Amino acid sequence: MHELSVLFEIVKQVELVAKKNEVEHIETLILQIGELSSMIPHYMKKLYPAAIEGTILADSRLEIEVIPANGLCKDCRQVFNLIKEKGTCPTCQSKSFELLSGKEFMIKEILCS
Ligand SMILES: [Zn+2]
Repeated sequence: MHELSVLFEIVKQVELVAKKNEVEHIETLILQIGELSSMIPHYMKKLYPAAIEGTILADSRLEIEVIPANGLCKDCRQVFNLIKEKGTCPTCQSKSFELLSGKEFMIKEILCS
């Protein structure tokens, strides 16, 4: 599954950062995932325990912040949620928009105990 290989990659990155900072135990990992990213938060949470087994992240918690998919209407400058409005501006019905957010996928914070 796509999510699992991505998680392994994240674990690798976190281990590098932890080593550099001489951290031995991590309590919580916070990821930011955009609504339009290909990652599904529900799957990530489910696969997390398997991905962290035997790593510095063992026994840590995964928190996911979902970033809304927002678009800026090119015709009336209204900002709207692309998923909720299905890509059509609710004010002027234009389908022409600029993507403001929603494709993010990043490590936001690593909390150590
Ligand atoms: Zn509009």
